[in-house]
Amino acid sequence: MTGNITLTMIKPLAFRNNSSGNILSRITNAGFWIVAAKTMQLSIPQAQKFYEVHKDRPFYKNLVESMTSGPIVVAMLEKENAIEDYRTLIGKTNPAEAAEGTIRRDFGTDIEANAVHGSDSDENANIECDFFFPKSERFHRPG
Ligand code: ADP
Ligand code: MG
Repeated sequence: MTGNITLTMIKPLAFRNNSSGNILSRITNAGFWIVAAKTMQLSIPQAQKFYEVHKDRPFYKNLVESMTSGPIVVAMLEKENAIEDYRTLIGKTNPAEAAEGTIRRDFGTDIEANAVHGSDSDENANIECDFFFPKSERFHRPG
């Protein structure tokens, strides 16, 4: 399934605003299949590991803090061209710069609390999906 999966997280503020249902509905309406999903709260070590690539960036500490501030919904999604199509659906990192109709534009609050995560490459999608979901918890789109 390489090339057809991506990992998303509905971030704590969007979860707290009770937007999870509306966001998941945008996702499935756009043709994505939910392979796996769960609600959980990231521990600080988990968030540090997940965002390790950003560990030298000035926003790393705040990012880890905000991502661990409350529950998230994490989901593995399946669709042809998943990485690119999902990045298009969510819009740019900064909700203020994201195109109209995108998830980040409509549900994001600021560049940090930008509603959702989306994987940036096939390689990272695989790493990120493995981080959250064992194969036994994945249910791919039927035939
Ligand atoms: P994306 O989520 O679009 O792939 P990045 O991988 O660059 O963006 O950053 C990861 C996350 O870190 C972003 O989703 C956002 O929550 C946060 N972030 C990125 N840039 C900034 C910034 N300049 N200030 C605060 N938070 C940021
Ligand atoms: Mg990224």
